[in-house]
Amino acid sequence: MGVARRLILVLAVLTALGGSVAYFTTEMGLTGSAQHARNLGWIVFALMTGLSILLALLIWQSLSSSFRKIRQQLNQFKSEGEIGLIMIDERDELANLVACINEYLTGIKSCLQEHRIQKKELEVQARVAEAERRQTEAMIFSISEAVLVTDKFDELLMANPTAENLFCFHLKNSYRRPIKEIIEDEELLSLIRQTRQNKSLKLTRLLERPDPEQNKQLSLKVLLSCVLDTEQEVIGVVVVIHDVTAEKEIAKMKDDFVSSVSHELKTPLAGIRAYAEMLADHEADNPQAYRQFCEIIQEQAQRLNRLIDNILNISRLESGVLKISKETLNIIEIVNDVITMMQPQAQEKNIELLRQIETNEMWISADRDMIHQAVMNLVSNALKYSHPNQQVLVRLGIQNNRQGIIEVQDHGVGIPDASLEQIFDKFYRVQENNHLAGGTGLGLHLVRQIIENVHEGRITVESRTGKGSIFTIVLPLCIPNPKEFALSNANQN
Ligand code: ADP
Repeated sequence: MGVARRLILVLAVLTALGGSVAYFTTEMGLTGSAQHARNLGWIVFALMTGLSILLALLIWQSLSSSFRKIRQQLNQFKSEGEIGLIMIDERDELANLVACINEYLTGIKSCLQEHRIQKKELEVQARVAEAERRQTEAMIFSISEAVLVTDKFDELLMANPTAENLFCFHLKNSYRRPIKEIIEDEELLSLIRQTRQNKSLKLTRLLERPDPEQNKQLSLKVLLSCVLDTEQEVIGVVVVIHDVTAEKEIAKMKDDFVSSVSHELKTPLAGIRAYAEMLADHEADNPQAYRQFCEIIQEQAQRLNRLIDNILNISRLESGVLKISKETLNIIEIVNDVITMMQPQAQEKNIELLRQIETNEMWISADRDMIHQAVMNLVSNALKYSHPNQQVLVRLGIQNNRQGIIEVQDHGVGIPDASLEQIFDKFYRVQENNHLAGGTGLGLHLVRQIIENVHEGRITVESRTGKGSIFTIVLPLCIPNPKEFALSNANQN
């Protein structure tokens, strides 16, 4: 039976009882038995009160059991994170109320399910977007050029480590900050603004900037491009900065090389032509002059030959087409040959070309022509970059019983510290020494190729500006020499 109905019944019983009691007590009061009537009244009152309490307790118990069930089920939904239907046995107003709640819960449940599906879809989309973001980030990070990405408010969205280094900032602290607070370069900032405002899809500029660290001018090729959304609205700007300083330097070096090669070729050629013409015009009127003219022509031809050999051998070595024919040879013979060949050049500047050979034999497995060219390039440089009346010394010795050492020492202009690292690079010439002699910047590069790549040796240099240089070649001996002929300490001063 329903709670309300039960309550109405109870009220009806109580009303009937109350009415009967009222009737009987009034009747009795009228008939004169007032004492009995009062007693009966009290008894009925007590019975009614007891009955009411009993009924109230029963109703309360039944109600609280239903509420407990509802509470338990709601708690279960809560703990399981699920929404279900509340089940009760009653068929009264409470059941109606529960039915209403159930209907409401069913609505919430379907809503929740929809939200869960949407949430899952969003999660998948977020994961895909995150993966794409990481991929883009990884790509941008792996690019060697500096990359900056700004949004439509000119705030920094992304940058790679090259950009961080170039503009000296940390992405961690700069994310979503206005780009003008991160980069000081006014020209670049205005290019970013310009690209965004004009919706430019490609803007390229070359910027020249001083590089305080290296004390030289940086050449930066800047490429800017707008990012547009599907409505063709600007959502950001991508800036790619390519440091073309090295490329420009190489281009300049190549230009210098071409002009110095033509100069280097022209000078001996002019000499050869002039002396050949004099010979043809019989200007050498005595045998001594004739021999002198011929010697000059021979010398200039050799110089020309050396230059052409340098150029050709480098490209042949680099392309791998140069045939290397190694034989076991005594390097002392080669050094003697070179010294003899270079004597006229030394005499021209009144330089004493000395040798100090501390062993009779130094056997190496080598390509004769190449080793000859390497030693000659070093001796030729020592003469070129020495002042007149100085000395150039070529020393040979053996180290650890298995390494042959060839040292070429001069007391000339020396090489500045800043240039020592690049001295063996192709086309590299020391600016400060250029006035002393012409050249192509190929000689030392070829020496290193010959010694280190072809003969597994080593070439090093020690030098002090104004004091001179020592170039040292170390080559593995193929026949160990039992006698140790160590070189005495080189004295540069
Ligand atoms: P180059 O044809 O210019 O002499 P190299 O490759 O032989 O080319 O040498 C590169 C540069 O190294 C030279 O331009 C010169 O400035 C410097 N150099 C080489 N040898 C010496 C030396 N013994 N003393 C001083 N400078 C030298």
